[in-house]
Formats: sequence, structure tokens, C-alpha cells
Amino acid sequence: MKLRHEFPVIVVVGIPGVGKSTILSIATKKLEEQGFQVLVLNYGDYMFKALNSKGIVKNRDEIRKLDLRTQLEHQSLAAQMLIDDARKSLGAKGILIVDTHAVIRTSTGYWPGLPQHVIEILKPDVIAVIEAPVSDIVARQRRDKTRYRLDLAREDIVREMLEMTRYFAIASATLVGASVVFIMNLEGRAEEAAENLVGVIRSIL
Ligand code: ATP
Ligand code: AMP
Ligand code: MG
Repeated sequence: MKLRHEFPVIVVVGIPGVGKSTILSIATKKLEEQGFQVLVLNYGDYMFKALNSKGIVKNRDEIRKLDLRTQLEHQSLAAQMLIDDARKSLGAKGILIVDTHAVIRTSTGYWPGLPQHVIEILKPDVIAVIEAPVSDIVARQRRDKTRYRLDLAREDIVREMLEMTRYFAIASATLVGASVVFIMNLEGRAEEAAENLVGVIRSIL
């Protein structure tokens, strides 16, 4: 089995509302301005498409509430579809960034977003963990009306999820020999977090 894809792969993780998608849109612009071909794929989009087309969910924040077997089946499908799309659109010069979660807080406990069957398909060079102060994350979760994260918007839950994200990210990285980097997304400073992520990505090119 090949250890890596032709193109570099960066997997970006962090708890819901920490700012992954925000940082990635800024980082992508920066990398494109620097002449890189960047493909950002959101893992949740693939799960949502598959589940929504079968009428199982109506919005993406319902996915984590499904029974684990249903999540597992679609997690597996999503990994394969995502990497197939990446292979089709990226040459050896492109960069794949995957916007996802190291761990999902389900009603059955903490469940890995990047178990062996997933991480061995994605084969990341780096896992970047986005973090922020607990109170800022809770405020973002409450403020962002485009999503439903109110089930998680409590300081004790967010604190535990930040901790779990670190543990699960390290466990996944160990399976494929990826490095792990932590990036702080401070309030009003998404630009700076994106710049730090760009620095990490450029260091592996
Ligand atoms: P999910 O995993 O649920 O998709 P996410 O990590 O992708 O969450 P975003 O959707 O990027 O999170 O951000 C959540 C909210 O926080 C958004 O309203 C966004 O504008 C805001 N936000 C992100 N980063 C910052 C920041 N540095 N300062 C202030 N607000 C921010
Ligand atoms: P997001 O927009 O990043 O929050 O993704 C939407 C939802 O997709 C998440 O809340 C999870 O329920 C699910 N999801 C995303 N990535 C994964 C993953 N790697 N494994 C399992 N579920 C995931
Ligand atoms: Mg997001």
C-alpha cells in the first residue's frame, strides 16, 4: 500500500464552530494568490449529500445524532467519494485540504472522525487542529445562525471536546505517520490563523 497520494494532503480538524471553514476560505485565497492549485473538500458535504439524497437528514447538524452504524456507513462512503473527486481534479501540483472532524460527539459517546478505514484512504501529510478559547467558541456557536450548534454551546462540553480532539487527532496521525500541528484561531484574528496554516502547508510543498 502506498503511504501517500501524489498530491499533498492536509486534514483540518476542530470542534464545531471553532472556525475551520472560515480559516480555510481565507487560506485558500492566499495560496491561490501565491500560484498554488488548492482543492478544499468538506467531508461533511459528502456525508450530507449521501444522507440527504436518501431522505435520512434535512440538515448537516442532524448527522451526529444518527445511530452509529448509519454514520459509519456514510463516513466510509464519504472518504472514498472525496478521494475519488480529489484524484480527478488534482494533478501532482495541487494541494488537497480536507475540512473535517477528528472526533464526533454522538449520543453514544466520542466517536472517531478519522478511524483507520478513513485515514488510510485520506493519507494526510499533516493533521492541523484548529483551536480557540472556550468562551469564544461558545459565543461563535451561539452567534452563527446558519448552523445548529446549540446542543454543544456550553463551556464544559466545549472544553472536553477540545481535549478529545487533541487525543483523537494524535491517534489518527499515528496510524499513517502524519504530523500534528495546533493552530489558534483567536477572536477577530481568523486572518492570522489562516496565515499560520498557509505557513504549515508551504513547509511541506
Ligand atoms: P463546523 O465544524 O460546525 O462546520 P467550523 O469550524 O467550520 O464549524 P465556521 O463555520 O468556520 O466553523 O465558524 C463558526 C462561526 O464563527 C462563524 O460565524 C464564523 O464567522 C465565526 N468565526 C470563525 N473564526 C472567527 C474568528 N477568528 N473571530 C470571530 N469569529 C469567527
Ligand atoms: P461540518 O460542516 O464540518 O460540521 O460537517 C457536517 C457534519 O458531518 C459534522 O457535524 C459531522 O456530523 C459529519 N462529519 C464531518 N466529518 C466527519 C468525519 N470525518 N466522520 C464522521 N462524520 C463527519
Ligand atoms: Mg465548517
